[in-house]
Amino acid sequence: MDTTVTEGSRRIQQDSAVTTRFAPPLDAAMATPVDAHALPALTLKNVTHHYRTKRALNHVSLSIGQGEIVCLVGPSGCGKSTLLRLSAGLETLQEGEVAINGQVIARPGSSLPPERRGIGLVFQDYALFPHLRVMDNVRFGLNRLPAAEQKERALAALRQVGMETYANAYPDALSGGQQQRVALARAMAPKPSVLLLDEPFSGLDTRLRETVRDETLHVLKRSGAATMIVTHDPEEAMFLADRIVLMRDGVLVQVGSPATLYTKPANSFAASFFGEVNRLEGQVKGGRVSTPLGPIAAPGHAEGARVEILIRPEGLRLEMAGQGGGQVSDLAQVEASRLLGRASLVHLRVLDTKGQPHHLHARVPGHFLPPDGSHVIVTLEHHQAFIFPMDDAA
Ligand code: ADP
Ligand code: MG
Repeated sequence: MDTTVTEGSRRIQQDSAVTTRFAPPLDAAMATPVDAHALPALTLKNVTHHYRTKRALNHVSLSIGQGEIVCLVGPSGCGKSTLLRLSAGLETLQEGEVAINGQVIARPGSSLPPERRGIGLVFQDYALFPHLRVMDNVRFGLNRLPAAEQKERALAALRQVGMETYANAYPDALSGGQQQRVALARAMAPKPSVLLLDEPFSGLDTRLRETVRDETLHVLKRSGAATMIVTHDPEEAMFLADRIVLMRDGVLVQVGSPATLYTKPANSFAASFFGEVNRLEGQVKGGRVSTPLGPIAAPGHAEGARVEILIRPEGLRLEMAGQGGGQVSDLAQVEASRLLGRASLVHLRVLDTKGQPHHLHARVPGHFLPPDGSHVIVTLEHHQAFIFPMDDAA
């Protein structure tokens, strides 16, 4: 792969390199194996990638099942786009292996070009050809088919995204959301078995983004294509994904359903990535760690180990303290209460056993706004508290 194509993938250019991106999966090399449905749609095996001396990916292995939506999520620079671009063939594979429907399509020194991989690509900037009508943008990747079939397929793809009435419009007459829908139609028109989307909603403002990603989710699910979506937004990943792949510094931190990552985070990085957490520290004594909210069992942690305790704000339940109600250790003083909409956020001051104050956030359902300075009884839901060793790399 030469650098023209590598550059061209960032922002579409009016050059021939771009034509490689939307070609149909009609290649003989991509003939669907008989047992395709039993095989993962996309497999990356032991992929390592360097840019000069910078290691962007470190022994990454990952499979995406037929029809599955997988979100790659993680902080900026963690290697998400590199993984997607290696899958697409927009970046030359240095180490490892990429397979589609069980057939190896890239290993070091030998690689199928993007247009022969049976993939569809969507980028943040839509990358529509401004001088082509919507219909011709979508037909672009169908150029090996007879004209009548091209038109039929393009219309069907536009119908899937609710854009068939705009077939004759030019891209600049469309809103950002509409352009993104056309870009999706163009990627899907050749019926690729794998769709690769890199930050597809980042160019849209917040309101529109929610609508477009909701529509996209349903379109993707109906299309049956295996999909890998890159996003830096944890909420977006939880909204879209059947499975989330959380990355950091070129490695996979955790792979699982949104529910698994939220309720069983692998480390403190994973716990804090998907939502605010209260953080406390402590030491394991007799299998437990003492906190300002009482002792918490610390199974699997060595006696005497220093640990951090991460508690989701919704893991704290509050009741107003009545006369004589609650233990003193459960009492917390309210520093501020705010209604956020569906939930209220209550800022609390609690004391540990040494009398040291700690600031905690409780997120409670509905309209619960205890006055500043009042006292509340705090009950910790233990399944919302996560304990990790302090020397955890995360
Ligand atoms: P992400 O998509 O998660 O933000 P990338 O895969 O784009 O991350 O980048 C991973 C790392 O590789 C980053 O440190 C980035 O600066 C570096 N990188 C990406 N592309 C290039 C490139 N073409 N040349 C040099 N370094 C790059
Ligand atoms: Mg990126």
